[in-house]
Amino acid sequence: MTATPTAHRLPSVGDTLGRYTALRIEALPEMSGTLVLLRHENGARHAHVAREDDNLAFGVTFPTVPRDSTGVAHILEHNVLMGSRKYPVPDPFFSMLPRSLNTFMNAMTASDWTTYPFSTRNVQDYDNLLSVYLDATFFPLLRYESFLQDGHRFEFETPDDPTTPLKLQGVVYNEMKGAMASAGSVMWRSLGQALYPDLTYANNSGGSPEHIPELTYEGLRAFHAAHYHPSNAYFYSYGNQSLEHVLERVEDQVMSQFPAQTLDVSIPDQPSFGAPRRMDVVYPGSDTERGAQALVAWKLGRSSDPDLNLRWSVLSDVLLGNAGAPLTRPLIDSGLGSALADLSGYRDSFREGAFAAGLKGLSAGKADEVEALVLATLGQIADAGLDPALIESSLHQFEIAQKEVSNSGYPYGLQVMFRLLGPWLYGGDPVTGLRLDAELGRLRADLADGKRVFETMIAEGLLDNPHRVTLNVTPDPELAARTEQSERALVERLSADFTDEDRARIVRESLQLQSLQGQESDPNVLPTLTLADVPAGVARPEYAAEQAGRALVGRVPQPTGGLDYLDVQVRLPDLGDLLDVLPLYAYAVTRSGAAGQDYVALARRAEAVTGGVSASAAVGTAPDDLGRVRLALTFSGKALARNGGDLVSLLRDVIAQPEFTRERLRQLLEQRLAGLKASVVGSGNAYADRLASAQVSLSAATDERLGGLSLLANLKAIVEGGEGQPASLDDRLDALLARFAELHTLILRGQPLLCLTALPDDLELDLTSITGLFTGDAAVGVPTPPRPARTPQARLTDSPVAFNALAYPTVPYTHTDSPALLVLSRLLRGEYLLPEIREKGGAYGAAAGFDTRAGVFSFSSYRDPHVRRTYEVFQNVQAFLAGDLGERELTEAILSASKLLDPLTSPDTVGRLRFFGDQGGYTPEVQEAYKARLLAVTLDDLRRVAATYLTPERAAYALVAGKDPNADVQELGLEFEVTKV
Ligand SMILES: [Zn+2]
Repeated sequence: MTATPTAHRLPSVGDTLGRYTALRIEALPEMSGTLVLLRHENGARHAHVAREDDNLAFGVTFPTVPRDSTGVAHILEHNVLMGSRKYPVPDPFFSMLPRSLNTFMNAMTASDWTTYPFSTRNVQDYDNLLSVYLDATFFPLLRYESFLQDGHRFEFETPDDPTTPLKLQGVVYNEMKGAMASAGSVMWRSLGQALYPDLTYANNSGGSPEHIPELTYEGLRAFHAAHYHPSNAYFYSYGNQSLEHVLERVEDQVMSQFPAQTLDVSIPDQPSFGAPRRMDVVYPGSDTERGAQALVAWKLGRSSDPDLNLRWSVLSDVLLGNAGAPLTRPLIDSGLGSALADLSGYRDSFREGAFAAGLKGLSAGKADEVEALVLATLGQIADAGLDPALIESSLHQFEIAQKEVSNSGYPYGLQVMFRLLGPWLYGGDPVTGLRLDAELGRLRADLADGKRVFETMIAEGLLDNPHRVTLNVTPDPELAARTEQSERALVERLSADFTDEDRARIVRESLQLQSLQGQESDPNVLPTLTLADVPAGVARPEYAAEQAGRALVGRVPQPTGGLDYLDVQVRLPDLGDLLDVLPLYAYAVTRSGAAGQDYVALARRAEAVTGGVSASAAVGTAPDDLGRVRLALTFSGKALARNGGDLVSLLRDVIAQPEFTRERLRQLLEQRLAGLKASVVGSGNAYADRLASAQVSLSAATDERLGGLSLLANLKAIVEGGEGQPASLDDRLDALLARFAELHTLILRGQPLLCLTALPDDLELDLTSITGLFTGDAAVGVPTPPRPARTPQARLTDSPVAFNALAYPTVPYTHTDSPALLVLSRLLRGEYLLPEIREKGGAYGAAAGFDTRAGVFSFSSYRDPHVRRTYEVFQNVQAFLAGDLGERELTEAILSASKLLDPLTSPDTVGRLRFFGDQGGYTPEVQEAYKARLLAVTLDDLRRVAATYLTPERAAYALVAGKDPNADVQELGLEFEVTKV
C-alpha cells in the first residue's frame, strides 16, 4: 500500500505548540526520519518520530517501581484496561480490538516501567485508539470488581456454597502461577534479585503467587495515582502524521485535567558487592538429568551511557553471537550442557547493565564447573586478545540492524520506540538509542589507535569485578506439590479467623462478580470503524519472474535500505517416513559445516557477510483441495547489497554440500530438545491445538510432525534412547546421519522457487550457482504422515494449569463457507470465549481459530485452571449462537477477520509474500474474491456453518496438562488417552 506523501510541518527548537515546547530536533538519516523532543509545562515528555510510514504508532510509558512482589504494577496494567471514565465498559481494550484495524495493540509490564503501545494504518482508527488509550491510562475506573477478577479473590469451590473449600482465584494470579512454572521466567526474576538485591529489581514485578494476595485494593489505587500522572509519563508518536494534531488531542484529553506533580521514581545505584556471590533457585520440573541451568552474571556501568552500551553490545555479540564465537564454542564443546543459558549476553534493561553467560541442559551440581569454565575462558580471551576480524564482523551486524526497516516481529514504529525508551527512561539521551554514528566513530577510532578496548572491558568489567553472581537454577520434582500445599496453607492462614460474616461476604462478592460478568454492557460508547474502512484490494507489489532451468526466479524491487533478502524454497518430492527427519535436517543444516568448512568456520563466515541464514520446513495446501498438500524446505538469508554475492555462495554451499558430523549433530539435537522441552509450559495451547487438528486434517497432521509434540518425542528418542532405537547414542546418531544423506539427495531433486528482494539497482544478482543445483525431475510429493487416531489425547507435563483444545475439519479456502467460518472464529473469541473462559473461568486466555488454508476450525484455552468446564463452554457454541446477536457483533467480527487478510508488511516481506502466494494459487484475484465474500457474511451464515461443521461427531480433542484429566471429564463422556510429554 502506498500512502500519498504529505509533508507535515515540524517545529523548530524553542517553538511552542500549546503548552509544549520543542526542546530538540534531530535528523535520523539512517531511517530517513526526524526526531522531535518536547516538554509540556507540567513536566510530561513527548518524543515524535516523523517518517514516511503509513503505519502510525503511539505509546505512553510510565516508570513503575514496585517495592514488593505483589504484582501491583502488573495487576494495575490489567485493571487499567477494564473500563474508564469515558468508556465505562468492562473491557474497552478487548472490545476495541474488533472495532479497529490496528496492526498492534498491547500493554506490557517490565521490571521498572509499564507501556501502552498501538499502531494502525488508518487515520481515523489512530484517533479512536488514542482516545481509548489516554482515557484508560489516566482515567481508569479501577472498580473493586475488576480488582477481584484480574487481581485476586477468595472463592468457594461452589461459589454460592460457603461449606465447600475456599480457593484463591484471579487472572493475574493464574497467569503468574503458569509463568513461574517455566525455568526461563524463574531465571529472569532471579537475575534481577541476584544482581540488584537492594533495588526495585529484587521484586517480582509480575507478582509472585504467594505475595499477590497481600495486595489491597487501596494499594492498587494509590499506585495508580502516584505513577500514572502526566509528570511521570513518556509519550511517543510516530509516522507520517501531524504532530500538532496528536499534541492537541493529548492536551484536550489529559493535560488540561492535571496539575503538575512531582514523584521520585529514580532508581539509585546498587551498592557494589565486596565479593562474588552464589544464588540457588528451583523451579517445578522433573527433568533432573538435563533440566538445570547455571549462569554467571555481572553488574556493569550505567546502561544510559551510550558508549558503554554500544561497546557491551558489540562485545556480547563478539563473545556469544554465533556458534563459533570464542566464549560460546568452549562452553558448548565442554559437553557440560546443551546450549547457552537463557539470558546469556548483555542486558540494558536495568538501570545499571548486566552481562551474563552460562549453560542450560545441565544435570544438577554442575554450576561450579560452569562458573570455572566461563571465568577461565574469559581469562584466556583477555590474554590472547580478540581477533580483529571477529570485531569487524560484529560491527557489520550493527550496520545491518541500523539499515533494516522491517515490520517483522514488532511494527517498525514500535521498534523505534523501544530503542529510544531504553536510554530515555534512565535519564540518558534518547537520540543515542536511534543514532549510533558518534559512538561507532569513537569506538572505531579507539580500535584504530590500537587500544585493547574489549580485552580491557573483559579484564576490568568482568574478571576483576567482584559484583558477580552465579545463578544455579535446578528443577525440583516436588516443588509443584509443595507449591500446591503452601497455597492451601496460605488459604488456611488467611481464612483462619473468618467469621460467618466474612464467608457471607465472599459469597456475595462472587455472585456480584458473576452478575456483573453476565451483565450486558454497551460497547457502542466506544469509537469504531465500519466495513467501508476495509480496503477492498490486497497488496500487489510488482515483481519479475523468470524460468531458469527447473527453477522459477522472482525478483522484487523494494526500498530495503540497501539489504538483499533471498529465499530458496524447495518443493519436495515424496519423502515417505523421512518426513520426521526433515525438521531435524532444517534445524541442523545452517548450524553445521559445508563445502569443506567446519561449523565454526561457517558460522564466522555467515556473521562476517550476512545478517543471518536459516532453513525451515513448512506445509502448504492448495486453495481448492484439502488433499493437495505439499512440503517445502526454505533456505533464507539477508545481507548488505555489497555482500550479495557472498550470501548467494553461502546459501549454495549449505544447500549443495552440507557437512554433518556426529559430534556437532549431538550438540544440536540436545540444544533443540532442551528448547522444545522448555517451550511446552509456555505454548501448551499451540501444542494441544496441533494435536487436536492433526486428527482431522492432512495438512495439520503433517505440521504436527514438523513442529508438534511428535517432533519432541522423535527427538527425545534419538537423544535419550527409547524403544526400537539402537542402544548407543553414537549408533542412533549414525542412523540419523544416513537418513540425512537420503534426504539431501531428495532435496536436490525437488522443485526450486527463488525470490530475491532488493533495491532496483541490486536486483541483477547472479543466482545461477543455486538454480543450477536442481537438475532432477522428481514430481512434488504429497506427505503421508502417520495420522493419530481420532481419540482424545492428553499429554502430561510439569504444569499447574491446563491447555485445552478442540478441532473440527471444515472446507478449503475457495469454498463459499470459508469466510463465514473465519468470521465465526472472531465472533466466538470476543463475544463468547473470553467472557466465559477468561473472565468467569479465570484462564489467562482462550481463542477460536480458523486456519483458512488447512481448513481446520479449533478452540483452545491458555493457562487454564479448568478442563471439564472449558470443554463444556466449547461444546455449547450452538446455544450461544442461538441467543441474541446483532449487527454490532457481526460487523466487529468481520472487521476483525479482515485484519487477518491484510497483514502488516514491510519492504522485506511484501514482495515475497506475493510471489510465493501467487505460486501457491493464492493470487490477488483469489484473495480479493475471499475478501468480497467475507464482507457479505450474515449472522445466518454463521449459525449455518456452526451447525454444519462444529458437530460432536466431527470433534477431535487434545490437551496438555499437569495431571490426568479423566476423572474430571467423565460426565462429558470423554476418555483421554494419557501419555507423558
Ligand atoms: Zn498479565
